[in-house]
Amino acid sequence: MQSAQNRPDLYSYVARNIVAPAWALWERSPYLNHLRYLEESQYRSLNEVQADQWTRLKAVLKHAYETTAFYRERFDSIGIRPDDIRTWQDFNALPVLSKDDIRNNIDTMLSSAVPREQLIQRKTSGSTGVSLAVYVDDASRQLKRACTIRHDRWADWNLGEVVACIWGNPEYKKSWRGHLRNAFLERAVYLDTLRMDEQAMLEFHRTVLRRKPTLFFGHAHSLYLFARFVERKGLEPPRPRGVISTAMVLHDFERAMIESVFGCPVTNRYGCEEASLLACECEVHDGLHINCDTIVLECLNGGGPVAPGEVGALVVTDLTNYGMPLIRYKVGDTGRMAMGPCSCGRSYPRLASLEGRIADYVRTPEGEYISGISLTENFAMDLAGIRQLQIVQRKIDYLLFRVVPGQGWSETDRKALARLVEKRFGTAMRHDVEYVDGIQNESSGKYRFCISELGGDQL
Ligand SMILES: [Zn+2]
Repeated sequence: MQSAQNRPDLYSYVARNIVAPAWALWERSPYLNHLRYLEESQYRSLNEVQADQWTRLKAVLKHAYETTAFYRERFDSIGIRPDDIRTWQDFNALPVLSKDDIRNNIDTMLSSAVPREQLIQRKTSGSTGVSLAVYVDDASRQLKRACTIRHDRWADWNLGEVVACIWGNPEYKKSWRGHLRNAFLERAVYLDTLRMDEQAMLEFHRTVLRRKPTLFFGHAHSLYLFARFVERKGLEPPRPRGVISTAMVLHDFERAMIESVFGCPVTNRYGCEEASLLACECEVHDGLHINCDTIVLECLNGGGPVAPGEVGALVVTDLTNYGMPLIRYKVGDTGRMAMGPCSCGRSYPRLASLEGRIADYVRTPEGEYISGISLTENFAMDLAGIRQLQIVQRKIDYLLFRVVPGQGWSETDRKALARLVEKRFGTAMRHDVEYVDGIQNESSGKYRFCISELGGDQL
């Protein structure tokens, strides 16, 4: 028998209506005002949304040209001034910004109009393991904070309610202010994904039964691992009203497991450290609404936009970050756009699906893409002796298999693996097997099925 879903506790009303406004006042943060605006405006027509987006875009282009050496030089080199950009087609003609562009020009990309002390550094682990730093100004951060809360509310959660986070490196632990804020306002309980052993998961399970979070939040795969743990151990399932999965591709088998164990829908979300929340599912769960209030998201192949339904590289323009403008930034992920409006009534266009981080794909020597997750699944299924597997593509014709051998692993499996490599990739692909005790989560807490170390443009 399934028990009822958790109700918000009494304190959540206090946190929302008293603590949050008082704290915002003390911090001098306008995020609650932003939130009110974003809540009220989320059902505008597509024309209104796009007109607003265009106004913000024009402003950020002008700002980038006038206050950063990098964009001024970039625009000048192709003979374009911000005033020349009058249509979306004009905008599409601007050059795409790569991770290398950012790495090589970080100083000239910072705006001279925003004081350095107002900038906050954001670091990503990067698709090839090389980290990338960007800077975000505080005004942008406050607006994005409001956006995130609006989208959290789409998962049937409300500000002030307890959240269970399955996430690496909890932020709040870094300062006493963070501890205080977490205790009285953010109310998050954590399962640190850098340590997801049995004892940690049992402790976390006890905590969530006691604290009754209305929302679970975490990486797709970590949420899946915890749900599977609860099921396999026959533990009493937690009963949140919603689950938000983010930071990595959510696979159908993961969604199905999480929904069946927790008894509520999973809301898929897509974001990146550089520009925060990019797109999020609504209550209908039919694609991810693009967060047009803070970004422009393009889906490109061969330089031009792709038709709905076709896979393209995702390119983001941040409409709010005046400290370090990001214009047409290639995030390193691929996706497909959805067609037509969503039945929820919001007009924000949608991503039909996220196809995966580009690095989560392996390439054959002929240049064909194979999804890393499918590949690991396929190998793990055919080789019964494998407990866990990670595939690292070092070169276009060289793969490294990190294998955690199970009890039944034998030389026969080793030979079967070689046959599978040949069948999938042809005789030109070389490979090695490295035996390991376990496969580590990355420092961000994400678990990678597959790592591509191939550089350069992959799409
Ligand atoms: Zn919708």
